[in-house]
Amino acid sequence: MTDRVYLDYNASAPLLPEAREAVIETMDAVGNPSSVHRDGREARRIIEQARGHLADALGVGSGSVIFTSGATEANILALSGTGRSTVLASAIEHDSVLSTPGVETFAVTSDGVADLSDIEHRLASVEAKAIVSLQMVNNETGVIQPVADAAHLARASGALIHCDAVQALGRIPLSPDQLGVDLVTVSGHKIGGPKGVGALISRDGLPITPLITGGGQERRRRAGTENVTAIAGFGAAAKAANIGKWSIVAEQRDRLEAKLRDLPSRVQILGVSAERVANTVCVAMPGVDAETQLMAFDLAGIAVSAGSACSSGKVATSHVLAAMGVPKDTARCAIRVSLGPATKADEIDRFVAAWRQISARRNERERAVA
Ligand code: PMP
Repeated sequence: MTDRVYLDYNASAPLLPEAREAVIETMDAVGNPSSVHRDGREARRIIEQARGHLADALGVGSGSVIFTSGATEANILALSGTGRSTVLASAIEHDSVLSTPGVETFAVTSDGVADLSDIEHRLASVEAKAIVSLQMVNNETGVIQPVADAAHLARASGALIHCDAVQALGRIPLSPDQLGVDLVTVSGHKIGGPKGVGALISRDGLPITPLITGGGQERRRRAGTENVTAIAGFGAAAKAANIGKWSIVAEQRDRLEAKLRDLPSRVQILGVSAERVANTVCVAMPGVDAETQLMAFDLAGIAVSAGSACSSGKVATSHVLAAMGVPKDTARCAIRVSLGPATKADEIDRFVAAWRQISARRNERERAVA
């Protein structure tokens, strides 16, 4: 499998060596972190060390970090645990946000940027106390959102603000304090940690009602014996996070986009005129369904994805592209290519060569039918 080209970092990033080492090292920690004996205290020490690494990466106090089973749970905890009766979320949030019962959505522009005037307008018309949810970076387009401005609007109207920063942690500077947000969601496996662990960062003193009850763990905000090894790996990945490495990914991203633009068939890069993270390209290959592309790229040894809703292995139409007003015919042909610090120029070239082939096959079929 060494000749596989992995261009799906936004779905899950490869495990960092530091995280692997921390996981392996802590697998034999026998104690329950809630036990008072020495073995329990050792497991507790591992968790608290990881909590410290994550807190340091975000510039918050350790007490703000609530470990969860992942970002999905953290998002749900943020929106249900704060007890606000109105949830206002951007139309391009992850499904774990958009599945909140009664959620109201605000618009994004055709570039995929949250429409601040729509947030303001909706905040003015909600009667009950609200919570606004706006992600830091969109997972499909890589577009960076105006979270600090949204936080300003939320605060001015007495609303809380939550930010799903899953695709931002380790890639761009991220400070809950500087953004002025109350709650931040992060995930282990998007930063080179293990899968199945995440965290909700909660402003000091903000009361959170647990989703999962039945134990005093995580300061009574999330019951259940902690996943010690996954937390250790997450902490190690947070410590090893290196924004400098991620910003150089832009070089390969720009190479990819330049090569795609040079192709004879008209390609469309979505969200291209907004500010984006360095690693994500959402691009439509005219006339070829995303599902067909994914399979063809996979056969060519290349992993990419279509939109975000692939959890069941099925490609669904992207709600993100729909919210941006991308026509259905374009949206169904859009794939997401997400690079990482290890992505090499020759891997970009292999992707572009495979693209050419897939697109040429489609053109041949068209000609045969005509
Ligand atoms: N939010 C965003 C923006 C994501 O990209 C993802 C992962 N696709 C999640 C939340 C869910 O993360 P997890 O896999 O940790 O539940």
